[in-house]
Amino acid sequence: MSNFYFCLERLKEAFYTLPSVTPKYAAKLASDFIKLPPESRKKLLEELREAEGSIRVCSVCGNYSSEEICDICSDKERNAAIICVVEEVMDVSSVEEAGFNGKYHILGGRIDPLNKILPENLNIDGLFKRLEGGAVEEVILATNLNRKGIATARYIYNEIARRFANVKISHPAHGLSEGSEIIYVNAHTLKEALDGRRSFE
Ligand SMILES: [Zn+2]
Repeated sequence: MSNFYFCLERLKEAFYTLPSVTPKYAAKLASDFIKLPPESRKKLLEELREAEGSIRVCSVCGNYSSEEICDICSDKERNAAIICVVEEVMDVSSVEEAGFNGKYHILGGRIDPLNKILPENLNIDGLFKRLEGGAVEEVILATNLNRKGIATARYIYNEIARRFANVKISHPAHGLSEGSEIIYVNAHTLKEALDGRRSFE
């Protein structure tokens, strides 16, 4: 195999590491990249390098940030007594659009034993550490309303109920249908669901 084809294969493999990219799409991306004018290729690489240098994970909530603590966690104007727990970083934007003004905790996924994702593989302990501080009055479990999301919420609910009896636990089920994924729910519906949140049972 010539050096170029070896390089092409590695490029495909590199694109394939992105979770939403299929092998076929990875090949297309590799081909697009090669066809770009040298200047554009260079620019793209510079952007990637720049982004890589500024991606950090907030040590409090697990959100992406360019600082040790993200803007939301360090914002004194927000209500620190309410934490909204979501599965993924992208869910934060949906809840923000719905006008939520508390704090967040991002799990980084959902419990999925068949794919070897157990509670200890998610940012769940970090949530309990925050509750140990005693300043949090309510936790909203805004995981997706599908089987894995509900099981994840159930696990967290059980642990909080057992360890932090004073913390109220709610979920934005009102108006959301079964199977709803937070990222796809429109801001108005999500706002109503958050306003009309019920206690998790
Ligand atoms: Zn944060």
